[in-house]
Amino acid sequence: MANSSTCHRDLRTAIIAADLTALPELPDLTVYLDFLETNIVGQVLERVRLASPFVLRTADPPLKAIENKRVVGLRRMGKRLVFVLEDDLFLVIHLMIAGRFRWKEHGAAITGKIGLAAFDFSNGTLLLTEASQKKRAAIYVVLSEEALADFERHGLEPLEANLEEFRSRLLAGNHTVKRALTDPDLFSGIGNAYSDEILHRARMSPVKLTHSMSQGEVEHLFAATQEVLKEWIARLRADAKGGFPEKVTAFRKDMAVHGRYGQPCPVCGTAVQRIVHAENESNYCPTCQTGGRLLADRALSRLLKQDWPRTIEELEAKRPSLRAAGSSSAARR
Ligand SMILES: [Zn+2]
Repeated sequence: MANSSTCHRDLRTAIIAADLTALPELPDLTVYLDFLETNIVGQVLERVRLASPFVLRTADPPLKAIENKRVVGLRRMGKRLVFVLEDDLFLVIHLMIAGRFRWKEHGAAITGKIGLAAFDFSNGTLLLTEASQKKRAAIYVVLSEEALADFERHGLEPLEANLEEFRSRLLAGNHTVKRALTDPDLFSGIGNAYSDEILHRARMSPVKLTHSMSQGEVEHLFAATQEVLKEWIARLRADAKGGFPEKVTAFRKDMAVHGRYGQPCPVCGTAVQRIVHAENESNYCPTCQTGGRLLADRALSRLLKQDWPRTIEELEAKRPSLRAAGSSSAARR
């Protein structure tokens, strides 16, 4: 029934989805922070080397401003990592989809086509790589807490929230629960992978509308969110064994449904299903989550697609209303 062009498109979409759903989320960033807190807080950032000027998205202050400054702290802002430096300077890194860190000996060369930048600290070099044709990872140099606040999306930290805070965010608009969990303005650090896992744990359909949820369902989802994130942080910490987390990926064989299309659900054995979005794929178990219904029928998949940003940039990028490339931060001072 599908003609060759739709087949071709399906295949292409599947390949893109496989590449693009691997965005590091809260548990992945937590284990990066564990390592960086132990190893670079207190060290001096001696030099920054860029393989391409395009990775740097700010012009003012210049990159040189952060050189020879000591790292005084680290923070996570949603899915961004923030290096707090002396003199009210901040280095913000958004890994986007395929951005990853490597920890190497001091002065290590930037590696081949995937290398984006090198940060030379007194005790080693942090390499930023991106194994993707499309370079989306971004570096920002920011002066002052006030300017840094522009990067804040105000998503609720799911592991610091109580039930009432979680509930009011979840019900802030009437969205599919999948969209609500992954919206950085509502919740911080949850992306496509862990939202699939959370919804499977909660035995809840990804297209359930938040305003149709009972108090019991909200409580159940809140518990599932905290459980899944805590379990994965513990698991990733165990994998890293106190060293550098080398294998940051959103496709983990121990996940219940995410990235496991066609494989058996670990709870009931039903084949895991998927909804392919423009740049994304959601996975779910029809037996555990949708009363046996396949969301492949058009009305249901359209519901989720309409409620889902078309591109990763749309979901993750800074709001257009926020300052553009450092220019207005200078004007404001
Ligand atoms: Zn199942």
